[in-house]
Amino acid sequence: MVQMYYDEDANLDLLKDKTIAIIGYGSQGAAQAQNLVDSGLNVVVGLREGGASWNAALSDGMNVLSIEQAAKKADIIHLLLPDEVQSMVYQQDIASNISKGSAISFSHGFNIHYHQIIPPDDVDVFMVAPKGPGYLVRRTYTEGAGVPCLLAVYQDASGKAKELGLAFARGIGGTRAGVIETSFAEETETDLFGEQVDLCGGVTELIKASFEILVEAGYKPEIAYFETLHELKLIVDLIHEGGLSKMWYYVSNTAEYGGLTVGPKIINAESRKAMKEALRRIQSGEFAREFVLEGKANKPVLRALEKKEHEHPVEQIGKELRSRMTWLKQ
Ligand code: NDP
Ligand code: MG
Repeated sequence: MVQMYYDEDANLDLLKDKTIAIIGYGSQGAAQAQNLVDSGLNVVVGLREGGASWNAALSDGMNVLSIEQAAKKADIIHLLLPDEVQSMVYQQDIASNISKGSAISFSHGFNIHYHQIIPPDDVDVFMVAPKGPGYLVRRTYTEGAGVPCLLAVYQDASGKAKELGLAFARGIGGTRAGVIETSFAEETETDLFGEQVDLCGGVTELIKASFEILVEAGYKPEIAYFETLHELKLIVDLIHEGGLSKMWYYVSNTAEYGGLTVGPKIINAESRKAMKEALRRIQSGEFAREFVLEGKANKPVLRALEKKEHEHPVEQIGKELRSRMTWLKQ
């Protein structure tokens, strides 16, 4: 088993005399900045003036500065902007304000791993990546717990980059839950693979395809919605709690036999070939190039696909059905 790091492995004192600049105050930025402040650390928040999150950060009591000023002041510059804007903002406002001996850090490895950001040799580069959305990073912290984190060091100029990363993870509550060490390459490539093939891409296509096939065969869309989308959560909750075995134990024998025998015919040799191709495009940098260029072109493909997804019948019927499920809103 890999080693896990906890509070006792992390020395918060390493950060006591340092200034941490959190660049960006969105999902992760707001959560991590507030946790670091509550851990007694010196935090400044770097934002573009006039942006929507400027006032949000101010009203949370943050010390808000321009991105340039925050970078200048900081010993640790933690980049929590959307991945596709990080390299532009880095070039414009950060690159010329990083001083020797400081650190630049991330919560996802994309921009470092794919060379969109190339920091100078004389700074530490590390990653502390919470394995959960920002609202959970904040909520669990206030409850005395935390979200597990991945830690990686890309560049160790000070000889203390790992200790610094562990201290940072402690500051946001990560070492309360456990921290696992990885590399920028491993975190980035597995993260992209998981979201493309399984969590986001795979699951949504499975829902749409099975819904379409039932409706085309003449079954009521409302029934198809319940069978192919609504029940997914009940199954995933069981898997989350106790693995595949717990789920197989709780479903009927009919579901267990049918699932175990037919499942492999659905995710078959051809599907596995497509999954491997997705991984190959991630490893070769082809997906990264495509995504970066998509961002530079103002996301025409993404916007078109979002619209198409929104108009899909499973979304239309789902909106209608969920509005009647008053218990969902609780
Ligand atoms: P968000 O989309 O929530 O970030 C929004 C923030 O970025 C706002 O403060 C916004 O400011 C600022 N911003 C957006 N565009 C620009 C721009 N062009 N110039 C300057 N500031 C800009 O990001 P996330 O929190 O989702 O992601 C941050 C990082 O954390 C990413 O690396 C991501 O991969 C990683 N991560 C995210 C997770 C998540 O759950 N969301 C989970 C784990 C890691 P303004 O108000 O001015 O627009
Ligand atoms: Mg992920």
